[in-house]
Amino acid sequence: MNNLTKEAVKSLADKRMPLFYDYLALPTVSTEHRAIPETVTYVENLIQDLGGETQVLDDLGGHPVVYGFFKASPTGNANKTLLFYNHYDVQPAEPLDEWQTDPFTATEKEGILYARGTADNKGNFIVRLNAIAALLETEDGLPCNIKFLVEGEEEIGSRNLEKYLQKYADLFKADACIWEFGGKDNEERFVIDAGIKGMAYLELTADSAGIDIHSSMGAIVDNAAWRLTQALASMRDVENNILVEGFYDDITPPTKEEKELVASLPFNLESTVAQYGLTRPLITDGKEITPSEALVFYPTMTICGILSGFVGEGTKTVLPRTAKAKVDCRLVPGQTPAHIADCVQKHLDKHGFEDVKVHLLDGQKAFRSNMTDPFVQQVVKSAEKAYGTDTEILLVPNNAGTGPMYIFDQYLKLPILCSGVGWSGSRAHAPNESIRMADFYEGIMHMIYLMGEFGK
Ligand SMILES: [Zn+2]
Repeated sequence: MNNLTKEAVKSLADKRMPLFYDYLALPTVSTEHRAIPETVTYVENLIQDLGGETQVLDDLGGHPVVYGFFKASPTGNANKTLLFYNHYDVQPAEPLDEWQTDPFTATEKEGILYARGTADNKGNFIVRLNAIAALLETEDGLPCNIKFLVEGEEEIGSRNLEKYLQKYADLFKADACIWEFGGKDNEERFVIDAGIKGMAYLELTADSAGIDIHSSMGAIVDNAAWRLTQALASMRDVENNILVEGFYDDITPPTKEEKELVASLPFNLESTVAQYGLTRPLITDGKEITPSEALVFYPTMTICGILSGFVGEGTKTVLPRTAKAKVDCRLVPGQTPAHIADCVQKHLDKHGFEDVKVHLLDGQKAFRSNMTDPFVQQVVKSAEKAYGTDTEILLVPNNAGTGPMYIFDQYLKLPILCSGVGWSGSRAHAPNESIRMADFYEGIMHMIYLMGEFGK
């Protein structure tokens, strides 16, 4: 194993800082298709300048996917390949007047680096390249093969990624994957997610007439808003149990290891209440499941919004002809979006709400790595080494959010874990996005130690 010191790595990273600043200066806003070709070239050059090979894949539509490859050194383990997933695109910088610095001019103030893309996701790509650069300067070189998949449509839903993964599954073949994001939570714990929840995004519509009607007709005419709200109310009771038949059917039960991990996760009720200004008890109160179990192991059903009739200032009597609700269900491993949509429609039909129609607008399956895979402990062990005894490391079977991990699993079949340099003040997608330089340097050490462990 190499004998890289933190000081040596920091000074190398500092020397390479202009490369990071120039990368952040590219306004790669994918929803506006801005600066895509020059960013692709820039990413390629960053990889090639360290001696890596690249391929730009653009034959299947959408923004190009960049493939990168670094071969293990002669003393390294060429039988092991680690895949890094990153994206070169960013969210729009708007609203511009809320930025305290120029979003596309990286600016460091008091140890915090501000620019669009620092946290999401250009910083993590540079961290990983810096780790490779540091290892390449040692006598031992790279302990394993490294592949990169750097896409340009993550911020617009990774629309074409599945096609590329399917066609180029052999090219991206690897033994394990480090996901694009990760970092520290609001209590400075380093969180390693080993999976992610899925999503069934539903739209429910009720139509009860051809036109909006004078509400005096409410004496004899039914009302789309009542139909929809009563239909929604039938789907979940006041105790917050989801009543849709079949909703929970396909859930893969958590393993012993997963249950133990979740039982050990901290949950701070006071800070959660304070953070959101909650005025109601948690819906897990009085239930057998803990908040941590609910966040990791249980699906959700959330009304995101309801639209019908008149909701302006003052009064307007009207009997609305139509009503619409958006409902998202965060799914856990085993559940499929199409089956969930089907169960909801069947439930409505069975309970006399045939007039309420369900449309699946967006669907993603959940993914959870096999927690007994040796890679899981390699990521944890290397994090303990990089972040030191002062930092608590949390291993979480899956994040409560959603992302396209399952397609990596589908075509590459590998464990996927998160590591990154985000922090609770990162403001990804918002004005004044940032990372802390201390996290940046620690993140590089984490990747150096991980490659060492992985290549053993
Ligand atoms: Zn993002």
